Amino acid sequence: MRSSVALDYEPMDWSDSMAQTFRLRDLKEKHGERGVGFTEFAQVPNKIIESLTPEILRQCKESVSLGMEQNAIRLAYCQKRAHVFECPNCGQLSKKAASCKNRMCPECAPRNFDILFARFAKIDKLIPAAVRCQLGYGWHVLDFSFRHDGDMPTQSELRLMVKVIRRTVERTVKETRRDLVRAGAGCKLVRNEDGTPKLSADGWPMAIKVKHPGNDPIELKGWQAVEFSAHEGPDNAARKRGIKGAKKKIPTSWKLRFGYELIRVTEFGFDNVNAHFHSAFFGPSLDYGFDEKLLKQSRRLVCWGRLVDIFKEESLKAFGEESYTVFFQKARQGFESVLAHALKYTKKIPSSTPEGLARLEHVLQGTRRVALLGAHYGIPLKSKPRDPICPTPNCGAAVKRVPGLGLVPLSEVADLPDVKDCGYEGQAADFVPSDDCEGVPEGIQARAP
Ligand SMILES: [Zn+2]
Ligand SMILES: [Zn+2]
Repeated sequence: MRSSVALDYEPMDWSDSMAQTFRLRDLKEKHGERGVGFTEFAQVPNKIIESLTPEILRQCKESVSLGMEQNAIRLAYCQKRAHVFECPNCGQLSKKAASCKNRMCPECAPRNFDILFARFAKIDKLIPAAVRCQLGYGWHVLDFSFRHDGDMPTQSELRLMVKVIRRTVERTVKETRRDLVRAGAGCKLVRNEDGTPKLSADGWPMAIKVKHPGNDPIELKGWQAVEFSAHEGPDNAARKRGIKGAKKKIPTSWKLRFGYELIRVTEFGFDNVNAHFHSAFFGPSLDYGFDEKLLKQSRRLVCWGRLVDIFKEESLKAFGEESYTVFFQKARQGFESVLAHALKYTKKIPSSTPEGLARLEHVLQGTRRVALLGAHYGIPLKSKPRDPICPTPNCGAAVKRVPGLGLVPLSEVADLPDVKDCGYEGQAADFVPSDDCEGVPEGIQARAP
């Protein structure tokens, strides 16, 4: 009796697994390791084109006319291709639809927010205790808005705006802590024998003036040693010799940086022309004030202080015209809420025509939508997706992509169950939600004080 039970069961499992093996072999033969992809939008099959909403098709066509072929192809295929996974535990095949990640894709915007949040949430942990504990230091909301002439900014104007913000924040921070910043000018880190930076008892980096190497090391308050861990980088010498894509090991290095951080996000207003910038700023309290009553009662922002003055100067230099809309306020609910404030606009896309969305995507290609400045500028930040989980009830194993198989059309694997998607390490949902941090209300233009 027992052996017949085993016989009843075994052949079934065996034929299932053979069918699965054949299926995977066929998929690999058809789509290969690189999967479905094209170089031109015109190659996208009619079946896919016909499945698009009229709006998405218009967005794709405008993207093509702006020279963004790959972007248009990705958008057309958003959620129409899938990765195939196999469970190491129960053998179940499963799928996960691939998204285009375009910044102006209505489907992808919420996912993009999760990815960005997970990537930038790490910054807070990188700030050393010595920097963090300085009097008046903390996370702040810092928003900027530029005057505009009623047209969407060009790529070069957007780049210039980003530069104005960088210069404004750098200058204001330096001016605020001039004493500390000056002390570190022309200094280099003193290292321990193992190469790590030497720190004082209070946790500040020890440094010497490069011009006076014989002098005693000094403690640099307000500064920090930032680690750039060992990584692979392009080997330009080898590439010149003709070795394509040659890489070399770049050893760990340390840089002396002044302690502040700025996570800057580019955003467009309801009218698509009002480019403005939300950011999360860590650092000293900057010289700034605004009329809170006026803002609450009549949604007018009147602001003043060195932060505003420097923004006026820098915007005048860049555009020949002063901008003066700045909002600065201590984050009342901590880092995660100020980060969510800065990034929340990446969750939804501006209401616009499909052509308008394609043009915004195009304008944003000239700069990073979200950028990090300050002490950790240049640090590689990646958001790590958590392994998806097997959909079989009670299995719970982490599944892996089927090796040697790239993206396949979703229609060919529609019968497979979806993986349990576990998002990204450190995404917003992992934190206590408190998204009620206030910034400049949408659509507010400051009046000249
Ligand atoms: Zn399983
Ligand atoms: Zn998408």
